[in-house]
Amino acid sequence: MRNTAHHADVIIIGAGIAGLSAAHLLIRAGLDVSVLEAEPRVGGRLATDQVDGFRLDRLGPLLSGSWPELTCTPGLGPLELREFAPGVLVHGEGRRQLTGDIRSARGALKAARTRSSAPWPHRAPRTPGDPRPSSRVPRSSQAPWASLTSRASGSAGPRGAAQRAYGTDPATPVRGGGRGGVVTGAIDRARLGAALSRLAATDEARLLARPERTVADALPGVGLPARTVDGVLRPLLTALLSDPELTTSSRCADLALRDYARGGLCVPAGGSSALPELLAASLPPGTVRTGVHVTAVGITSVRTKEHGELGCRSLLLATGAGAAAELLPGLRVPAFHPVTVLHHTAPAPPSTGRSLVLDGDRSGPVAHTALMSAVDPARAPEGRTLVTSTVLGTPPADLDRSVRAHLATLYGVPTERWELLASHHDPEAVPAMEAPHDPRRPVRVLAGLYVCGDHRDTSTVRGALHSGRRAAEAILTDLAVPGAHEGSPRLPEAA
Ligand SMILES: Cc1cc2nc3c(=O)[nH]c(=O)nc-3n(C[C@H](O)[C@H](O)[C@H](O)COP(=O)(O)OP(=O)(O)OC[C@H]3O[C@@H](n4cnc5c(N)ncnc54)[C@H](O)[C@@H]3O)c2cc1C
Repeated sequence: MRNTAHHADVIIIGAGIAGLSAAHLLIRAGLDVSVLEAEPRVGGRLATDQVDGFRLDRLGPLLSGSWPELTCTPGLGPLELREFAPGVLVHGEGRRQLTGDIRSARGALKAARTRSSAPWPHRAPRTPGDPRPSSRVPRSSQAPWASLTSRASGSAGPRGAAQRAYGTDPATPVRGGGRGGVVTGAIDRARLGAALSRLAATDEARLLARPERTVADALPGVGLPARTVDGVLRPLLTALLSDPELTTSSRCADLALRDYARGGLCVPAGGSSALPELLAASLPPGTVRTGVHVTAVGITSVRTKEHGELGCRSLLLATGAGAAAELLPGLRVPAFHPVTVLHHTAPAPPSTGRSLVLDGDRSGPVAHTALMSAVDPARAPEGRTLVTSTVLGTPPADLDRSVRAHLATLYGVPTERWELLASHHDPEAVPAMEAPHDPRRPVRVLAGLYVCGDHRDTSTVRGALHSGRRAAEAILTDLAVPGAHEGSPRLPEAA
């Protein structure tokens, strides 16, 4: 710990990934930086607890390996990512279905040819009079979704071909023509794959210029069959956005789906805390000061609970939205999506491999779950299994019992003997990105005072890293540091 009279060029409050990534860029530009963190560890919401040899994330972050922020952020070079299997495993109407790689039409067709659809063990066979929706390719109007579409319906193939494919492929029985159906056919997958690969190729400026609605309002018009929308897109977006009601802005959904289409899903090897730990370890010694709680801020100084006043030329608030508004009254505090993460160990591993399992018909509290010891073996001791499950929204009162029952349905195995290792609830896990949402909220309050974090961008790891970069660039511009971003537009003020 340096002495309290220390004066830094820039003081950053908060050693989450936003503050740490900003610190890297400022130090690289030659500035003297101090990062003050209230907790005894770095990382903020990216925390991993060690329990009996398990490495348990307090969140279930689904990262995309394609983000420029992951590869470009100084210090993250050695980051190892562990990938989920391509595609997702959707459970709906008593049946599970592995979509295979739906990130391109070619991948989707290949997956369909390998017959990835498998009946769920306990699914009752269809009988005459079965109330479940019958199998029919809907004659839906192919109104394209502003984002997934533009040419989606044109390239999806003629409807007649789709009907022929469904009608002649006994391996992929057609079901669920309406809400709650599951995507089953090769043509459906190819259409979804084609739409996602077009999204992957669309640049961000174009996505952000598109009409904005809530995801729930936009989904019915995406130009894909209802069974694809309800069976795959809806649960996938729910997981990516941590938003069970899908009130998120359709533009933010575009960005999330684009990341998914570009890089699939992955997690940091060994736990999400690897990200901030790598960032912190590659900063000059003494830059990060943990256990320092900032109680008041000015432009040229901060007051801390433990060490009095510290001086600086510029100040960057890199806390969560609530803490930022406490220190700077007037900053907007968004609504939040609560998230609960549960970790179980099972006597025998379920047979889902590295797939992310999505709840396709909201038949219980779990939105998504995965055998994490298969995705990232470093998270469990040798020979043990780790199942990590995410509950979105307000959790039920009998959390473990109802989650256990739902997991039995999702995995198709009894779960009474599964042992709960830990559960963690965060009521302010993810800032809501309701429409209209500006994913590039200004980071400059006034010259010398800046704010960053996921609440200024998209509510993701990617958004937090990106906001840190934007804040660092603003500081360098205002301080006229040589090599800073000449020609940057005049920065708007934050609110
Ligand atoms: C349960 C859960 C699930 C999630 N799932 C995903 C996901 O699947 N994919 C994804 O991309 N993102 C996910 N996220 C979001 C992601 O974790 C965040 O967007 C990201 O970690 C935010 O980083 P940050 O640096 O902006 O803020 P934080 O991580 O909140 O860091 C802020 C830091 O400021 C410190 N601080 C606060 N007040 C003070 C003070 N007065 N003095 C000093 N220090 C202070 C805090 O202790 C903290 O360390 C999830 C989050 C949670 C909690």
